[in-house]
Amino acid sequence: MASGRIFNFSAGPSMLPVEILEQAQADIINWDGTGMSVMEMSHRSKPFESIHKKCIQDLRDLLNIPPNFKVLLMQGGGSTQFACVPLNLLKDKETANYLTTGAWSTKAIEEARKYCRAHEVATSKSTNFTTIPDPSTWNVDPNGAYFHYCANETIHGVEFTLTQEMLDRIGEVPIVADMSSNFLSKPIDFSKHAVVYAGAQKNAGPAGVTFVIAREDMLGHAKNITPTMLDWKIQADNDSMYNTPPCYAIYICGLYFDYMKRHGGIEAVQELDRQKAAILYDLFDSSNGFYTNPVNPQYRSKMNVPFLIKGGNVDLEKKFLAEAEAVGLSTLAGHRSVGGLRASIYNGMPLEGVRRLADFMTEFKTKHEAE
Ligand code: PMP
Repeated sequence: MASGRIFNFSAGPSMLPVEILEQAQADIINWDGTGMSVMEMSHRSKPFESIHKKCIQDLRDLLNIPPNFKVLLMQGGGSTQFACVPLNLLKDKETANYLTTGAWSTKAIEEARKYCRAHEVATSKSTNFTTIPDPSTWNVDPNGAYFHYCANETIHGVEFTLTQEMLDRIGEVPIVADMSSNFLSKPIDFSKHAVVYAGAQKNAGPAGVTFVIAREDMLGHAKNITPTMLDWKIQADNDSMYNTPPCYAIYICGLYFDYMKRHGGIEAVQELDRQKAAILYDLFDSSNGFYTNPVNPQYRSKMNVPFLIKGGNVDLEKKFLAEAEAVGLSTLAGHRSVGGLRASIYNGMPLEGVRRLADFMTEFKTKHEAE
């Protein structure tokens, strides 16, 4: 680890590999002999065009995105896509299906209610969002314009992929996924999805870019009231340059994609994420209840790992946070809406960081177990 760096377990923006930061540092004043920083370039210039093109191509390569899907680089984060999805996909329909599995899918359905009758297919609210509702209870409206779900609930630490049983429940309705917090952590099955979207600031780069990967037949249906900037077809027709894009953020995402390609691609990322998550969940499960994770083990997130100390001892949590911060293990508080603790272990978190956290947790337990 570079000197003075900490291990930052933030839920996003999050750590970036030092190699990327060093590359950005080397390029900052004069990118590739152009005599200017990427921050200073016209977005219509040849050098930026090459950065933009390579960024999208590398993302396509990493995720093996089929040719009939468009990759859009948008702004406004996942939150703006909560509005884009109904605006672009409702067509003449009045209903859309939403699965509610935590705070973010709740926000998505709330936003959709501004535009349509958002039909809640099922919710795990009664479990405090610690599981995925049993697919046999999913009540999908086959006339709904689409089915929306959140693949990884960042606050509640619940993650899942669509099973055959779930697909059977959804039927022919186009599937839309919010992958904001597990994008680029594993392959995506595009044969099951019509649209996938994700902000960059967890696994793909800095805040400011939102990736929308949309099947071509999902474009061109935006309602008349759709703001021009939020119309996916207009973005696609203009190569995501209808207006000035977040050039510097796109450049850093491009460095990240290039880095991932050089480090074994998405399979290597997935394996590393599996190892990192296993270290923490194994530690909880062998801690005799000192550390607990409330999530149904089947749906434990590999990205966001919430946990409690002694079932929610607030004094011990405070001590934990202070002692962790003092040894360079930072931003481990749970989201303010749920409390407790949370370690977000996105792609930029090295294995060494998770090992250090696990060692710290073992020591902390020994020290405070008797309290
Ligand atoms: N969806 C999920 C799953 C998220 O984690 C977040 C952000 N934490 C959002 C949507 C909203 O993203 P943004 O802050 O980029 O608008």
